Amino acid sequence: MTNKIFHPYTTFSALRNKLPNMVRGEGIYLFDDDGNKYVDIVSSWWACALGHGHPKVVKAIQEQTAILQHSITGSLTHPNVLALAERLANLMPTPDRHTVFASDGCSAVEAALKIAIQYWYNIDRPEKTWVIGMDQGYHGDSLGALGAGFVDGFHKPYEKVVPHPAKLPFPAAGDFGPSRQVIERHKDKLAAVIVEPLCLGSAGMKIYSADYLKQLADCCAEHDVLLIIDEVAMGFGRTGKRFAFNHAGIDPDIVCLGKGLTAGYMPLSAAVVKDSIYSTFTDEGEKDCTFYHGNTYAGHPIGCAAALAALDIYEAEGTVERGAEMAEKMKLWMLPLAELDCVKEVRFLGMIGVVELKPETKPLIAEMKQALFKQGYLFRPLGTMFYLMPPLVISDDELKAAIYALQQTIEEFC
Ligand SMILES: *Cc1c(COP(=O)(O)O)cnc(C)c1O
Repeated sequence: MTNKIFHPYTTFSALRNKLPNMVRGEGIYLFDDDGNKYVDIVSSWWACALGHGHPKVVKAIQEQTAILQHSITGSLTHPNVLALAERLANLMPTPDRHTVFASDGCSAVEAALKIAIQYWYNIDRPEKTWVIGMDQGYHGDSLGALGAGFVDGFHKPYEKVVPHPAKLPFPAAGDFGPSRQVIERHKDKLAAVIVEPLCLGSAGMKIYSADYLKQLADCCAEHDVLLIIDEVAMGFGRTGKRFAFNHAGIDPDIVCLGKGLTAGYMPLSAAVVKDSIYSTFTDEGEKDCTFYHGNTYAGHPIGCAAALAALDIYEAEGTVERGAEMAEKMKLWMLPLAELDCVKEVRFLGMIGVVELKPETKPLIAEMKQALFKQGYLFRPLGTMFYLMPPLVISDDELKAAIYALQQTIEEFC
């Protein structure tokens, strides 16, 4: 069969090989149509925290499909979406919140950005329209999201289309001072700041401190700037706590969720909004401040069923706590890779383990990826970085074997 797919994030040079055709998933493995199995080292784009084919999520989806497959949330409710909104509010440091549902991470981010901007319109400060992010931050691939996050390596063609009035510098030395200056200089125009908490994923797993995040939250609060935390990639246990922002002990104004929200079983995302913001979206004052925004599948019943099941499992199986324990082991087993000649740096955050190779290895990366693939490992290197972001349910032996395969491959090529 010919391949008529216009693939996301896939170079034409990669298309010269026949692409693996995945027909089945089970636990941490994906199986291709030749019966080969592969470890899903990147959790299918960071989503499948519980692995594939978890019987409880599958059952919840099947049951919901037979009951109600879709009904909108414009002026209507259904039991699953009511339950999920309640549940998400209660996962936050303060539960006085309402949730906007959407389907993908970037659509939750779009909603969050528009809510932040409209909030200031609602309260008669319409000059506050800027939403800025961190240099090389990533919040999805819609144009709105590119206006807040921008990864040079991916987004260059759109540079002139999306405004970037200002950016927070990446706190390489951990120092909050330079970011404070940006916020203080532009506070009158700033509607919100949006950041990926503790780790810039798509920029290459660049890690910064919880202390920076705490100072950012304080500074935003001090200067009437909303803080949007994009937990799409880090949420639900990836960093060793439920949310990455929990490491900083902050209570963000808006929290974006996706990926792990359904553990990758259905497309569903959410922006969880503080009631102090939500309450301004009223049509009962002098002007109509209704939120005229929504996606067809906002709060999709089957998606919500998957999310409710995933949240049950995270709790019942102690996924977050187990992930935190595994993270310690991963670190121990990966640290020796730092000694290899062509390794520039090894770094960690919870169940994210990164091996950054020296820049001169760049021409070898595609071959190394292919060699690992032949051994049954689905790595997706970012630049010269190989990272592990496996399902949180991976076993000790499976994780050890994956790290060993990576080590062997690096030694072989460099
Ligand atoms: C993946 C990701 C998004 C976008 O999510 P999609 O579901 O791909 O639209 C947004 N923010 C962060 C931090 C992400 O990692």
